[in-house]
Amino acid sequence: MPNETICPLCEAERQIYTIRKRETHKIRGTDITVYATVKVCSEGHEFDTYDDGQATCVALYIMYEHLTGKNIKRFTYDQYVIQPRAIKEAG
Ligand SMILES: [Zn+2]
Repeated sequence: MPNETICPLCEAERQIYTIRKRETHKIRGTDITVYATVKVCSEGHEFDTYDDGQATCVALYIMYEHLTGKNIKRFTYDQYVIQPRAIKEAG
């Protein structure tokens, strides 16, 4: 069931769907593919909630470490400028 809530791009109430999609991000020169949880409004805009963005960051971090054996400083959503996407702030 979609939720009726505010899309940060439309800045209006829309039907919001939650989808899972494979995304590739370049982390320190290495392509890392993870499943991200993304919100999509009925107009087709994709955006993250803060929690979804954090979860994507953690998944990228774990996958990067797994693939490269390198331990990098854990990045947070605030530093998540890899692929710009609108953020819906919690609350
Ligand atoms: Zn929208």
